[in-house]
Amino acid sequence: MRIDGTCHCGAIAFEAEADPATASICHCTDCQAMTGTAFRANIRVEAPNFRLLRGTPTRYLKTTADSGNHRIQSFCPTCGTPVYATAPGDNPPVYTVRIGTLRQREQLTPKVQNWFTSARPWVTELGALPRNAKG
Ligand SMILES: [Zn+2]
Ligand SMILES: [Zn+2]
Repeated sequence: MRIDGTCHCGAIAFEAEADPATASICHCTDCQAMTGTAFRANIRVEAPNFRLLRGTPTRYLKTTADSGNHRIQSFCPTCGTPVYATAPGDNPPVYTVRIGTLRQREQLTPKVQNWFTSARPWVTELGALPRNAKG
């Protein structure tokens, strides 16, 4: 499906083609630290299907990933929104795009939870919590 997104301030904009079946959640401790929350929702985009439309993301080389892989984390230099991760180098094969930046996010339901060994113990209990319409 066609997807497109922006960071919170709008400085970064992109479009891509992605398979909704690749939507996933990552519970790794790096994602917890870099989002400031409990987990991250991602979708996989093959590099030829990703197009940056506006802005230049700041790149941070993450060297301590739980996976042992080095990853480039790309985020907006103005508002800090995480936009995608890739492999280091000039021609990364895949962009791991952050679902929260996408206009189509309501259509993208995660199909798998990765790194569940480091999931916060309460993530399975969210359905039982009281629900407020606003914060
Ligand atoms: Zn921004
Ligand atoms: Zn992660």
